Amino acid sequence: MDLEDTLLMMPGPVPVAPKVLRAMSKPMINHRGKEFSAMFDDCTAMLKEIFQTQNDLMIVSGSGTASMEAALGCTIDKDDKVVAIENGKFGERFKDIATRYGQVVPLEFEWGQSVDLELVEEKLSEGAKAVTMVHNETSAGIRNPAEEVGKLAKKYDALFIMDGVTSIGGDDVKVDEWGVDIAVVGSQKCVAAPPGLSMISVSERAFDAMTKENLPYYLDLKAYKKSADKSQTPYTPAVPLFFGLQEALKIVMEEGMEARAKRQATGAAAIRAAMDAMGVEMFPQLNEVSGYSNTVSAMKAPEGVSGNDIKSAMMEKGIIIAGGQNRLSGQIFRIGSMGNVAPKDIMLTIQELELVLKKLGVVNEIGAGTEAAAGVLDTL
Ligand SMILES: *Cc1c(COP(=O)(O)O)cnc(C)c1O
Repeated sequence: MDLEDTLLMMPGPVPVAPKVLRAMSKPMINHRGKEFSAMFDDCTAMLKEIFQTQNDLMIVSGSGTASMEAALGCTIDKDDKVVAIENGKFGERFKDIATRYGQVVPLEFEWGQSVDLELVEEKLSEGAKAVTMVHNETSAGIRNPAEEVGKLAKKYDALFIMDGVTSIGGDDVKVDEWGVDIAVVGSQKCVAAPPGLSMISVSERAFDAMTKENLPYYLDLKAYKKSADKSQTPYTPAVPLFFGLQEALKIVMEEGMEARAKRQATGAAAIRAAMDAMGVEMFPQLNEVSGYSNTVSAMKAPEGVSGNDIKSAMMEKGIIIAGGQNRLSGQIFRIGSMGNVAPKDIMLTIQELELVLKKLGVVNEIGAGTEAAAGVLDTL
């Protein structure tokens, strides 16, 4: 299979625009020079708009997990309690990181189940330094109640540390309005840059909470802030990725966040409509405060079929979708529609999926899914 002909429909890495790829092949520059600083400031300003924040914003050379670790590693000392909300693999990751730095208070829901706010409040009322939650739980295709958890964190004076890796840049995420003290995003997801960078916003309250004697060294957010105030990074940044990020962010700005969020929500709604028409069930179990993800759709594998078989059959057609991770392997399949994925990419994916499902005996006739998806996308 020719890699240039493959369509990535997964929750990161996502397809990257040709001008982003070209930008990365520019000659290297001095990362302590004016040219880099100008690029750094440009990226930071665009990111603050996307995060909807006035907080400090740092760009870390390392994938999303590096910033998740920076968030906890800088704020949590060994006796500090962290309420770690989990309803999927990335919530579990936050919990695992918190375990390394402090006292974790796990709040576990089965993967794909909704977060129960009463239980969040119960745990927070017992006193905690921080609460972690994944806004858009990529592994399960569910959107968790960030605004509500932000309110509870404020009420009980805990820091709200949010993984916005697959929501920021795709959804309308209001970091300041929701009271998110630390928000994290990765370059290879909604902003459609190549993998390797992560971006993290930090409130004054979160900086004030960094009182531990030994912060991590490479991921010391205070050092990042000190350098960011001089339009630099503390250590040599991944310069080619910065070139790519700047172009990718310009594309986001040209589209405009409002239009982008609408396109994402409509794309995911089209996928769900197609599934409904084909008799394929969505995986998440929603409650009144959760929602289906606007950037990645998770479906239950139809009776008698493994999610991995669907993924493999799609791969043979040159379309890369995702299966389930860890305990969800085989049970679900996922279609990412984040980044610059266009309606025509979604249509092609649904058409091919419909053919795959017919072959697997899940649907008897072709057309219902395609028509349903087209009907929703036509509203764009
Ligand atoms: C992709 C992703 C991450 C980061 O994973 P990396 O492999 O470090 O890029 C974190 N959280 C969520 C919700 C993600 O989807």
